[in-house]
Amino acid sequence: MIYLDNAATTKPDEGAFLQAKEYVTQKFYNPSGLYKEGFALQSELKKARSVLLSKVADETAFEFIFTSCGTESNNQAIFSFARRGNAVTTAGEHSAVLAPFAELKNRGIAEPRYAPLQKDGRVDVQKLLALVDDKTCLLSVMHVNNETGAINDVNQIAKEVKRKNPRTIVHVDGVQAYGKLPYKLAKEIDLYSVSAHKIGGLKGVGGLIKRKSLTLPPYLFGGGQEGGRRSGTENTFGIMQFFYAVEKKFASLKADYERLRGYREKVWAGLDKDIFLRISDENTSPYILSVAAVGLRGEILLHMANDKGLIIGTGSACSSNAKTRYSRVILACGYDEKTADGVLRISFSPETTEEEIESAVGILNEVANDLKNRMK
Ligand code: PLP
Repeated sequence: MIYLDNAATTKPDEGAFLQAKEYVTQKFYNPSGLYKEGFALQSELKKARSVLLSKVADETAFEFIFTSCGTESNNQAIFSFARRGNAVTTAGEHSAVLAPFAELKNRGIAEPRYAPLQKDGRVDVQKLLALVDDKTCLLSVMHVNNETGAINDVNQIAKEVKRKNPRTIVHVDGVQAYGKLPYKLAKEIDLYSVSAHKIGGLKGVGGLIKRKSLTLPPYLFGGGQEGGRRSGTENTFGIMQFFYAVEKKFASLKADYERLRGYREKVWAGLDKDIFLRISDENTSPYILSVAAVGLRGEILLHMANDKGLIIGTGSACSSNAKTRYSRVILACGYDEKTADGVLRISFSPETTEEEIESAVGILNEVANDLKNRMK
């Protein structure tokens, strides 16, 4: 099976899994335990926390809080800082931001405001800034879009938002960027969400990076773990596996970035241009290529490719729980429903090989031509 749906989830890194195994078989203790084994675990978690943070942020200005997933990190950021007034986000966000924003309205907490996207998938920054006023308590913008791979200049956005309203808390959903793109967070970013399973970690482990001087109210109350900001006995195995996976990912981040950029261009070069339209341009994350088979249904193509041994995604969310047939992100970029219906998301990982790329292109052309001919 060729797996090219890595934006949805990645295969857990096996080396990291084996390195972390001792946290299940031997070091299974409670890290908050008062015995020396507990203390030892706490200091190992501290080291992991510091390394995970230092990869993208200045350790003197930011800190790293472990959570259970990117969704939890986003929810904590949004519900902790949305207050009376308005909260601004973009039309391209993942449902882990859009659903909490809808809930802000349902609960009467804050008025949600949505900035439009440009054709290239990035948020229209001027329109985003125009939504920020003196009553904006929170702004949430994604770093890399999970459907198109479009990259927002979040450091610049955060700077401009703070210039307009220094009290607005800036949250960035960095789930599709962490461990994939080279960057360092600007001091104007208050909160930044990451998730382990997008980069070889396990599902059920995430993090919320926060500016040190910002007081983060707890979202989960309980035993006071994570400095009282996120209670719940730490998932030591998951955290340590994430830590080992991250050390590996960042060691080859730049080389992987270039190699995958080559793969993405190779896929596009090989696809039948009479059928496929390119959605992700050259400036997007090399980990994601979004294309549309205009006039064909992406979902049918996904199943046909699946039968031939290729796993990819469609544009309609990264799950089978999508409520609408068309991807709202692709529509928000200005494409029509016919194009949105045919979207396929091909997403890579550093484990992807050139042979897999070549086979995948062959399968995609074959199934798309097959479906097109059947529809004549
Ligand atoms: N944000 C983005 C941009 C995502 O792509 C995802 C997962 O698909 C999430 C948030 C949610 O992350 P998790 O699956 O860790 O809850």
